[in-house]
Amino acid sequence: MRIIIFGPPGAGKGTQAKKVAEHFGIIHLSTGKMFRDAINEGTELGKIVKFIIDEGQLVPDQTVVDMVEETIAGEEYKKGYIIDGFPRTVEQAVAFDNMLERRNEAVDAFISLYAPDDELIQRLLARGEGRSDDTEEKIKTRLEVYKKETAPVMEHYQQAGLFRSVDGTGTVDEIFQRILSAMPEK
Ligand code: AMP
Repeated sequence: MRIIIFGPPGAGKGTQAKKVAEHFGIIHLSTGKMFRDAINEGTELGKIVKFIIDEGQLVPDQTVVDMVEETIAGEEYKKGYIIDGFPRTVEQAVAFDNMLERRNEAVDAFISLYAPDDELIQRLLARGEGRSDDTEEKIKTRLEVYKKETAPVMEHYQQAGLFRSVDGTGTVDEIFQRILSAMPEK
C-alpha cells in the first residue's frame, strides 16, 4: 500500500501520517524530516539544503526525487509506505509516477488535508518544535510557495482518479477517522 498525504504546511500531515503508518503497519516517510536529519548530521546533502529550508523555499526537484528513489528502493519499503511532504511540485509528481512505473508499482491513495490559513498559521506558531522555518515570516513564505508551486499537484492526482479531500480541522482522532473513511476499498 502506497499512500501520499498532502496539504499545506500546518495541515497535520506528519501527525496523521504517523497514525496511518501505525494503523496499516507501513512506513512513514517524510522528506522534510529526512532533510532536517541530514542537516543535523552535517552530511553533504544537509549542507546543500540548509539555507533553502531555513528560507522556507523548496529544495530542487532532482535532489528530492533522487533521495526518494534511493529510499524506497530499501527492502523495508516493500510492505508499503505513507509519504508526507512529497511530491511538492507537478514535476516531482511526474517523476514519482515514472519511478513507480519502472518498479511496477503505483500510488493507491492521495489524501489531501485542508484547513483555513489562519488555523494553519496558528498551529505552526504553536507547535514549538524549534524548527528554524516556523517563524512568522518563514511561515508566510511557505504558504505562498505551497499555493504557487505545490497546490497544482492536486490536479495531477485528480486526473489520475486518486484524489481524496479530507477536512483537516477538529481533533487528531476525528481527522484520522475521516482519513480512514476516505481510503479506497481494497
Ligand atoms: P516539511 O517538513 O514537509 O514541512 O518540509 C520542510 C522543508 O523541507 C520544506 O519547506 C522544504 O524546504 C523542504 N522539503 C521537504 N520536502 C520537499 C519536497 N518534496 N520538495 C522540495 N522541498 C522539500
